[in-house]
Amino acid sequence: MERLAELIRDRGPCVVLTGAGVSTESGIPDFRSPTGIWADIDPMEYGSLRAFQADPEKVWSFYAGRIGLLTGAEPNDAHYALAELEHRGHVTAVVTQNIDLLHTRAGSREVVEMHGSIRTASCAACGASFPLDESLLPLPRCSDCGAVLKPDVVFFGELLPRAAIDRAYELARGTQLLLVVGSALEVYPVAELPLETVRAGGSFAIVNRGPTALDDAAELRIDGSAGEALGAVLVQLES
Ligand SMILES: [Zn+2]
Repeated sequence: MERLAELIRDRGPCVVLTGAGVSTESGIPDFRSPTGIWADIDPMEYGSLRAFQADPEKVWSFYAGRIGLLTGAEPNDAHYALAELEHRGHVTAVVTQNIDLLHTRAGSREVVEMHGSIRTASCAACGASFPLDESLLPLPRCSDCGAVLKPDVVFFGELLPRAAIDRAYELARGTQLLLVVGSALEVYPVAELPLETVRAGGSFAIVNRGPTALDDAAELRIDGSAGEALGAVLVQLES
């Protein structure tokens, strides 16, 4: 943690890239671990665009449970530490793969949501957008045209939001230090971002439980709890 604090002091402010691992300490299961969401549920049946188009009610029945879980979860020490690091000028922005809104709820201001979020749902037929709250469930419909709404999260088989990708790449290129937290860096294009930082002359550090796909290229790697590691870094940066 001392070394990470030193890196942030020397090369910061940093851009942070977070994945599911930052939210597991809030009780939100990740996707691919043995206890993850896709351990019992086939993502192609409940998380793909094709499944949604074929049977939106079935996919919404799955999302209703997820949305309840996500809105009921609280930000953890890692979310709060990142918000505080931004507040103190050590972090420029958080780029996240998570849809749970926990960074924003913890107080982070610059948040780039690569996979969308559960904040809104929109109508594919007329383009209208609606706040996604539980009153719309079980089958949210557009109040303008009556079509079934789709949550503004990225499904399998769907492109990532262009503006978010462009912003994420711009941030990755523009920083001397990218800090990866809670991602195994296995999903593209998110896994490209640390390499983009390196190509632009910077480096990256990783805080994650377990190995990642880019461990060999990282300047520093901390294997452990994101909340504990970032809390300790915050203390180090104060001294
Ligand atoms: Zn509509």
